[in-house]
Amino acid sequence: MDYLISVSFGELTLKGDNRKDFENRIIRKIKKAIESFEIDEFYKEQGKVYIKANREFYKEMIEKIKKVFGIFYICEVLRCKKDICDIEQMTKKLIFDLDIKEKKTFKVFINRVDKKFTPKSPELSKMLGGVVLKNFGNFLKVDVHNPQIHLFVDVKEYVYGYVKRYKGFGGLPIGSSGRGLLLLSGGIDSPVAGFVMGKRGMEIGVIHFHSYPFTSERAEEKVKDLAKILSEYVGKFTMTSINLFPIQKEIASKCPEKEITILGRIFMMKIAEKLAVKQNYNALVTGESLGQVASQTIQGLTVVDKLIDISILRPLIAMDKTEIIDIARTIGTYETSILPFEDCCTVFLPKHPVTKPKIEDITKSLSLLDVDSLIKDAISNKKVYNIKNEQ
Ligand code: ATP
Ligand code: MG
Repeated sequence: MDYLISVSFGELTLKGDNRKDFENRIIRKIKKAIESFEIDEFYKEQGKVYIKANREFYKEMIEKIKKVFGIFYICEVLRCKKDICDIEQMTKKLIFDLDIKEKKTFKVFINRVDKKFTPKSPELSKMLGGVVLKNFGNFLKVDVHNPQIHLFVDVKEYVYGYVKRYKGFGGLPIGSSGRGLLLLSGGIDSPVAGFVMGKRGMEIGVIHFHSYPFTSERAEEKVKDLAKILSEYVGKFTMTSINLFPIQKEIASKCPEKEITILGRIFMMKIAEKLAVKQNYNALVTGESLGQVASQTIQGLTVVDKLIDISILRPLIAMDKTEIIDIARTIGTYETSILPFEDCCTVFLPKHPVTKPKIEDITKSLSLLDVDSLIKDAISNKKVYNIKNEQ
C-alpha cells in the first residue's frame, strides 16, 4: 500500500483536441511546480494525475500544485491492489489515519471505473461501510444525506482511497487564452485583476508607471514584491517600469487642471498599448472597477476606450471592493498592497477631477501636447525586470 498525491482537473465541457491540449498543459505546469522534489512515480490514469514521492513533502507539494490553474481537487490517496482484502485494509488505514476522537458520520462513495470489477458499487460500498462500522463503530455511524466524512474509493487499474480533498482554483492552465499586459499599480485591485485573468488561462506580463523622484524607489520595490507574489500563480514574466513624471508635468502645465488624472491614464494606456503591440500581447488588463473612484465612471472608461485600439480587459469591473479584498487575501497580495507608499496618480491631484469627460474636450487637450514624442521618450527610458518567485 502506498501514499500518493492525486490531482483532478478539467473543464468538463472541453472535448477532443482541446481537452488533450488542456491536459498536456496542466501536466507540464504540475511538473514544473514540483520540479524541486524527487519524484518516484508520475502517471495519468483516467482523468487524474498520480504522483508518488517522499510522503514527508506531500504538504509542501500540495501547496505548490494548488497554485496551478485548471485544477479542481488535490488529494492525498492510498493506493492498493485490486483485491478485496487489500481494499478492506486500505479502508481501515484511511479511517485510522484520521485519528477520530469524537462521534462522527460517514458515507462511502465508490467510483467503479473498471466495470469488470466485482462486487459492483452498491455491494462494495456496503462491504466497506461494514468494515468501518466493525472497526470504528464506537465513533462512526452512517449518514447517507449529510455525512461529515466522505470516504472515496476509485476502482481503476489500481484502487485508490481518500478522505480529504483540497480545492484548487479551477480555471484554465496558463497559456491557453493568449497574452495580456497587466497595468500593475501598488494598489489592491490590479494584482487581483492579473490573478483573475491568469486563472482564465491568460499569460500575464506587467507594466508599471512610477513618478520618480516624486515616488520613491521603495514604492517601486513594493510593486516588484506584488509582481513576485503574482508570479507564484502565473509563472515568470517581465515587468516594464516607466517614468510618467515628465508627461505628468507637461499635462499639468498645458491642460485644464480637472483633466490631469484622465489624461494621465490615457497616456498610461497609450504607452501600454505600444508596448503590448511590440511584445505580442493580445490585450491590456486593468484593475478598474465601475464607480470606485472619479476616474472609473462609465464615461471615463468610454473615453479611454475610444482612444485605444487594443482590447482593454477589466475583469473586476462589476466587483465590490470587499469581493476584491477577499481574493487579494486568498492569493496573499493584500498585506503588501496596503503598505503605505506614494502612488504616481497622486502627483498632480486635481481638486475637482472631471467625472464625465467628453471625448471632444479630451482630444482638444491632447492636441496641446506632443503626444508621440512624449510617449517615445517615456518608453526609451524604460527599465525591465525579470520577475520570478524564488519560493
Ligand atoms: P489599484 O488598487 O489597482 O491601484 P485603484 O482602485 O487604486 O486600483 P486607480 O488608481 O484608478 O484605481 O487605477 C485603476 C487601474 O489603473 C489599476 O487597477 C491599474 O490597472 C491601473 N493603474 C493605476 N495606476 C497605475 C500605475 N502606477 N502603474 C500601472 N498601472 C496603474
Ligand atoms: Mg491605484
